Amino acid sequence: MEKLKCLRCGVEMEFVGREKIQLGQTGWLLGDLPNLLSGALETAIFTCPKCGKLEFFRGDFFDDEGEAPGGIAQTRCSSCGVLYEMDYPKCPRCGTKNENW
Ligand SMILES: [Zn+2]
Ligand SMILES: [Zn+2]
Repeated sequence: MEKLKCLRCGVEMEFVGREKIQLGQTGWLLGDLPNLLSGALETAIFTCPKCGKLEFFRGDFFDDEGEAPGGIAQTRCSSCGVLYEMDYPKCPRCGTKNENW
């Protein structure tokens, strides 16, 4: 997946972090979502370094580094169990061949 870009400035947005927010207190932020979901929602937050715009995304679309897990398919090493990207021919940790190749 491509890096997020600010819609206004076109510069790369910086990953701020993941935040669990209470939907009840943030109705102004998420519009109609509180009507659809209840409880806490995990979000991934990005900011534009140029204009300061904040963008919120559903937390399950990004991992802790702000990468989108859905962007690149991942596979689990059958030998050591580490999760790595599908396009690696072998496990980056133990070198076992990627069985999907
Ligand atoms: Zn911007
Ligand atoms: Zn391995």
